[in-house]
Amino acid sequence: MTKDTQNQATDTGVIIIGGGPCGLMLAIELGRREVPVILFDQNPSTSTDPKGNAIQARTMEHFRRLGIADVIRTKGLPRDFPTDIVYFTRYTKHELARFRLPTSNEARELAKTLSGSWSTPELPHRCTQMLVEQVLRQEAEKLPSVSVRFGCPVSAVEDTGRHVSVSVMQADQMKRLKCAYLIGCDGARSLVRRHLRVSYGGESGNVRDFMGGRMHAIYFRAPQLFSEMNVDPAWMYWTFNADRRSFMATVNGRDEFVFHTQLKVDEADREITEIDARRMFAQGEHGVGVSKTVIFGRVPQIVSR
Ligand SMILES: Cc1cc2nc3c(=O)[nH]c(=O)nc-3n(C[C@H](O)[C@H](O)[C@H](O)COP(=O)(O)OP(=O)(O)OC[C@H]3O[C@@H](n4cnc5c(N)ncnc54)[C@H](O)[C@@H]3O)c2cc1C
Repeated sequence: MTKDTQNQATDTGVIIIGGGPCGLMLAIELGRREVPVILFDQNPSTSTDPKGNAIQARTMEHFRRLGIADVIRTKGLPRDFPTDIVYFTRYTKHELARFRLPTSNEARELAKTLSGSWSTPELPHRCTQMLVEQVLRQEAEKLPSVSVRFGCPVSAVEDTGRHVSVSVMQADQMKRLKCAYLIGCDGARSLVRRHLRVSYGGESGNVRDFMGGRMHAIYFRAPQLFSEMNVDPAWMYWTFNADRRSFMATVNGRDEFVFHTQLKVDEADREITEIDARRMFAQGEHGVGVSKTVIFGRVPQIVSR
């Protein structure tokens, strides 16, 4: 939403709704250009769920430009941890195939030998979005023209023709702020998108055997899982068996993992209990009802995509 702001009194130049990766990156870019920005996010903090688990080279190049690539490389998989992708029947049974991929340290050396269109100073890095968002928030908060305000849900936006006004809850009080520009970085169910009556193009809701339907993600800690699996370390683990298909990434190369599976027809519309979640994991792990591994889980969450 853009407005001609000449001679208009506003509370700030830009309001960004949404403190996910898009909103935070935008706040950093604007703040580095000394543009006054207020960023609102409804959640009390950046994401506490791992979500995306890899950062591609182009994104790492942007982080390098901003001077934060090295900080981000200290998060996620340790620099000497392989980034292999492995396929199993079940995690503790048969390994079917393995793509050997370099550690972060090896990738850095490898990048120096690349040339032509494949050359890049920053190869991909395996780090969860959750940890990246923390770094982005810290960077945005360092910038004098940027105010980052989590715990502030925006309930309405209005384009007056002279400015854009935003109704936002701050410290239990509803406030109305005026800005010259409002930018919606408020995710898939965006209030701003709906306000502007922008609809999605393309297809959605396609149901396939895997990654086409409701997915369930479990973020958990399991200190013994690597020893139960007893295979060469890897970053991503896929399973194919008669009970369940799944994929799991190690978040920190030690004891934190995120497991994803597609909900079956009889699971998709009901609440998934912690017992259900443990059974799903066990179907990927060794095939019997209850997991062999001690899982210190948070209450499992349903995440669909
Ligand atoms: C389980 C899972 C795994 C994923 N894995 C991958 C992956 O491997 N690779 C990949 O590329 N992508 C992945 N994604 C998708 C990726 O997480 C999203 O594409 C990404 O988060 C989008 O970033 P964003 O900043 O646009 O929006 P979001 O990250 O959705 O951030 C939007 C923010 O807006 C805030 N907000 C919304 N409405 C309001 C409001 N009214 N007022 C104030 N704040 C508001 C929300 O609280 C949120 O923090 C995954 C997603 C999930 C759920």
